[in-house]
Amino acid sequence: GLATGSEAKKVRTTCPYCGVGCQQWLHVKDGRVIKVTAVEEGAPNLGRLCVKGRFGYDFIHSPERLTHPLIRDGEAFRKASWDEALDLVAEKFKQIKQLHGPDALAGISCARSINEDSYNMQKLFRATIGTNNIDHCARTCHAPTVAGLARAFGSGAMTNSFAEVLGAKLFFVIGSNMTEAHPVASTFVKQAVRNGAELIVADPRFNGIAEHAHTYMQIKVGSDVALINGMMHVLITEELYDRDYVIANTVGFDELREVVMQYPPERVAEISGVPAETIRAVARKMAAVRPSMLMYTLGITEHTCGVNNVLSCANLQMLLGNVGVEYGGVNPLRGQNNVQGACDMGALPADYPGYQKVTDAASRAKFSQAWGVELPDTPGLMIPDMIDGLENGTVKALYVFGENIANTEPDINHVEHCLRSAEFVVCNDIFETETTRFAHVVLPAAAWSEDDGTFTNAERRVSRVRKAVEPPGEAKPNWWIFKEIARRMGQEWASASGQEIWDNEVAPLSPIFSGIRYQRIETDGLQWPVPDEDHPGTTIMHKDGKFTCGKGNLSALEWAPPAEVPDEEYPFVLSTGRRLYHYHTRTQTGRCEGLNTLLGSETADISAEDANALGIGQGEKIRVVSRRGSVEVAARITGQVPPGLVWMAFHFREGCANWLTNPAFDPISKTAEFKACAVRLEKL
Ligand code: SF4
Repeated sequence: GLATGSEAKKVRTTCPYCGVGCQQWLHVKDGRVIKVTAVEEGAPNLGRLCVKGRFGYDFIHSPERLTHPLIRDGEAFRKASWDEALDLVAEKFKQIKQLHGPDALAGISCARSINEDSYNMQKLFRATIGTNNIDHCARTCHAPTVAGLARAFGSGAMTNSFAEVLGAKLFFVIGSNMTEAHPVASTFVKQAVRNGAELIVADPRFNGIAEHAHTYMQIKVGSDVALINGMMHVLITEELYDRDYVIANTVGFDELREVVMQYPPERVAEISGVPAETIRAVARKMAAVRPSMLMYTLGITEHTCGVNNVLSCANLQMLLGNVGVEYGGVNPLRGQNNVQGACDMGALPADYPGYQKVTDAASRAKFSQAWGVELPDTPGLMIPDMIDGLENGTVKALYVFGENIANTEPDINHVEHCLRSAEFVVCNDIFETETTRFAHVVLPAAAWSEDDGTFTNAERRVSRVRKAVEPPGEAKPNWWIFKEIARRMGQEWASASGQEIWDNEVAPLSPIFSGIRYQRIETDGLQWPVPDEDHPGTTIMHKDGKFTCGKGNLSALEWAPPAEVPDEEYPFVLSTGRRLYHYHTRTQTGRCEGLNTLLGSETADISAEDANALGIGQGEKIRVVSRRGSVEVAARITGQVPPGLVWMAFHFREGCANWLTNPAFDPISKTAEFKACAVRLEKL
């Protein structure tokens, strides 16, 4: 329960950082969270927490929290009442809709906030404003997963569960910095390895999980499709693949074989940098030790070929008969605590909640009836097109909920130029950010631990998030803010709490959530699909090769290099990622004293060979320059990075990799190629 007196109380909730979804106890005293501990035996973390989950809570009580609505007044902001701010937003939205049509408005939902907030935001855009222009930051990370796995299997989510990791025999980890980005998941992998499981890691960087690998493949940035084609070449030519599974459960094998035959290990070695013998050995190992769990993260998705990379992972696991079985599957580690949930809730331009398509007449009729309005039938804009739309005038108003797009999108100079061009920008947030600087109205939101709702973790587990303390000042729950704007635009919505939104709207309208009610997830959460109220949840999807889409789709894929490759002027590859002690743009972790002490600034990680050649010393300030911008940042000389590669994160505004990254996008998912662009290094 909610703590009121001076006695410490414990409130169970779900971690607000990564997609593992660890279960925590918030210890509350005198209206403040004073400590966080793990829920022993609670799924999925079984009593474990990482440094962010354990110590990353100071931000809740930061004096910098937004406590009242703000309205732009020239270059500055002035305080406003809720009525004034909400009236202004509703009036402006109505006016823009009338003058330019509903598609001149666009919204970006929040993958950090509860499902119920995303549900209400997409409802505001679809039912009240009348556009499908609603998206969220999965576009920036795992949209290729959603699109790719939906095409391969019929469902765009992790197929298996964290609980299986401890029992798995073999892991193939590709493009994942899990020790830093999904720390508790990596502890399960490392424990399994200590108990005898084998680990194969493919990554351009010798990262933390690579240190535990039996076989490490240092692939060149952006060569994943070629590498996996090479492995499949071995499996097919040596007849090591699961022929019965492929015949019974998949389509597309002949086309796949034809393309894969163009990728003998010797050719792949040239593209990927991995010796042909290693490619053969890994393929043979994966055929001999079955099933294996394939795990990947953004090293797969954040490429112009992100969807093809995801499809390659699906190809490999179907060829081996590893999908639909315990200890197997294709397992994307979702980044944000609720990025799975924001997708599930329909904060996507082509999907209603539960992945029901806006282009499907029956789905449209169902939501139209539930919401009492006609609904648009064309998919909306994705984030990059929303941002460009501000510049070219097709998008007049942008509603940014809990995202810091001025730091997270590629090519910051371009993004800021577009935000500056907007007619009207509204932000819901808990702090001022680089993005709220461009807002006309800023609405102060209740943070995690100040509202009741649910998060959905990477393994599709819907878990409770609980209110433990009161929001500061006049800050309000996000779902309430959207409901109030809808009311001012002429729609009264009945649901008046997270529970009412879930139990009365999300579950009845979405077959995959039909059986989930708050009362069923008081302790551990349930993994969707949960088709009815007696269903125990789904730990393994596509059981026995019965795919959501019928037969699994094998895809014939050609390798293509990144959009921007090194040349004489920009001779290095820049790749990007995350570091253990911070989370994204540090809106939260930057307000946690301990975490700032552990890591206080950005670095550019380079090899000793390159440092020597350029005369750069450890910790020396250097300039990293791309075609789009430049940053000055300390060099970190490390054996993790091979010659020719520069590796950076985007946690700190100063030295943020996104001043440099390339806004070149996957054609299907519109996910940017954060993992590869060309830079040069300058000694200062
Ligand atoms: Fe939170 Fe992820 Fe760390 Fe678990 S592993 S405590 S969910 S940040």
